Amino acid sequence: MKIKGIEHIGIAVNSLAEDAPFWKHILGLDHTGTETVDSEKVTTDIYDTGRGKIELLEAMSNDSTIAKYIDKRGAGVHHICFEVDDIHKAIIELKENNITVIYNEPKVGAEGYLVTFIHPKSTGGVLVELAQRP
Ligand code: ZN
Repeated sequence: MKIKGIEHIGIAVNSLAEDAPFWKHILGLDHTGTETVDSEKVTTDIYDTGRGKIELLEAMSNDSTIAKYIDKRGAGVHHICFEVDDIHKAIIELKENNITVIYNEPKVGAEGYLVTFIHPKSTGGVLVELAQRP
């Protein structure tokens, strides 16, 4: 597969209202949008650093994967996302190498990207997202 770079780093936060101002006002990152991803029950708040984005993730409900993550491990870095040129090809290639892919069929994530995740047990402990630009 062809990795085109780090698309974003996903950070689980308790509260966008409390935590986003650091990224927006102290670091002065360019805010590019806020959207809800209903399939993940999460609100994403996205900032562009110029070389890769920061994606703040706030749970929309207690059964959101982000709420469960924060309960277990606390707020902080949740995943790293790489941009790929062809996500369908990437999934096939990963499965051929016995890598645990979370969505065998890519889902539509924030900003319309097609995404899947690689289980941390296959990566040395980091949740890795792959995303193809829409
Ligand atoms: Zn992400």
